Amino acid sequence: MANERSLILFKPDAVQRRLCGELLSRIEKRGLKIVGLKMLQVTKELSAQHYAEHVEKPFYPLLEEFITSGPVVALVVEGPEAISVMRTMMGSTNGRESALGTIRGDFGLSRQMNLIHGSDGPEAAAREIPIYFKAEELIEYETTLAGWVCADD
Ligand code: UDP
Repeated sequence: MANERSLILFKPDAVQRRLCGELLSRIEKRGLKIVGLKMLQVTKELSAQHYAEHVEKPFYPLLEEFITSGPVVALVVEGPEAISVMRTMMGSTNGRESALGTIRGDFGLSRQMNLIHGSDGPEAAAREIPIYFKAEELIEYETTLAGWVCADD
């Protein structure tokens, strides 16, 4: 069981819809540890760096417009298999196809404005985390709860 870190964004729609507390609460209650947290405005340059794999795709101009349209909240979460745990909690890209109980399935109907980003694998996490956080902005600390919420079977 790998202890992983994942880069999470609460996208501009989550901020505008006042859903950041709800999303953060779900992440905390699940047992993942927040090791970095900040609000920032994504620039066109940052968008292109983050979404490098999508820059040439037809949907990119609208994605860029959306992700730069207002502030986002960026987090690094840590825990056992944190990357896939977060992807499951997020649901499918398209809110309309996303299962109830997931963040995208519970709060959205859009494929673009889908509230949350989460790294889709270890390589993506390793690439994305330094885009948003300097090493000194990530805090190492122990929680006494870890043995209760993360214990393996
Ligand atoms: N996106 C979009 N139109 C599409 C596909 C994706 O606007 O047809 C946006 C959407 O906000 C999505 C992001 O681009 O979250 C990145 O796409 P990806 O396929 O990596 O989805 P994710 O990993 O976020 O589920």
